[in-house]
Order: sequence, then structure tokens, then C-alpha cells
Amino acid sequence: MTESQGAFVHCSAGRLVEDEEDAIAALRAVKNWHLNKPRPFRDFGYSFAFDNTATIWEGRGWGVAGAHTRGYNTHFHGFMWLGGASLDHKPSQGALDALGFLAEEHARRYGPDLLRCHNDVARKSCPGPELTAFVRDWNALKLT
Ligand SMILES: [Zn+2]
Repeated sequence: MTESQGAFVHCSAGRLVEDEEDAIAALRAVKNWHLNKPRPFRDFGYSFAFDNTATIWEGRGWGVAGAHTRGYNTHFHGFMWLGGASLDHKPSQGALDALGFLAEEHARRYGPDLLRCHNDVARKSCPGPELTAFVRDWNALKLT
């Protein structure tokens, strides 16, 4: 993938990560799910993951087609927050900062493209209300 039109924001709909051990377990759970779906992915499907400790985890990384948003995987990156199984899960300020860092880095590499939410193109609640609001605010700032 030499061009990227933007990045989709997702949540794992899994455990809320509070430390590195949680994160590793949560990332393994996502990878196992992706490898064992009825139509399995070749590997962990997201470009990057980020968590409430403000840590960014590299998945497929920059420039590699993902498996995260049906119809958009060859021209969009995918950033996944580790959490969201419950509406009680809230992204921390550190998680929002990590997402902002990823969005800025995407813009630096590929141009000032906007973030999108999984729920923009699929009938899903992913990535949840707080991250959806963050994406709306981020895009509004970039358009002004
Ligand atoms: Zn999603």
C-alpha cells in the first residue's frame, strides 16, 4: 500500500487494558480471533493498536494492507483501541493522545487525510461514543 486515504478507528470490543500484561493478553486474543474466524485473516488485521496506558502497539504497521474494515483494507490503515467490551470502558486521555499521535503520523506520511470510524461504513457501535466524538473533533479541527 503506497497510498493511504486515511485510517479507520476501531475498538477491540474486548478487555480494557490497564498495563502491559493486559495489553499482551488482549492483543493475543485479537490475533487468535482473526486467525480462527470462519474466514480467517492471514494475521492480526490492524495496522496499530493503542491502549489506556498510552502505549502504541505495531500490528501490520505502515504501508501494509490490513484486515479491519470490509471494502477499505487496501487503501486505509486501521487503528484499534484495546477496550470496548462494555460501555463502562472509556478511553483514557493517554489513549486519545496515542490516537492523535497515530493520526499525525499518518498525515505526515500520506497527507492530511481524515480519520474515520468503523461505524461510518458498517452497522456497528465500534469504536464507541468517546472515540467517535474524538474523530469528529479531530476532523473538524483539521478542516478549519
Ligand atoms: Zn471496528
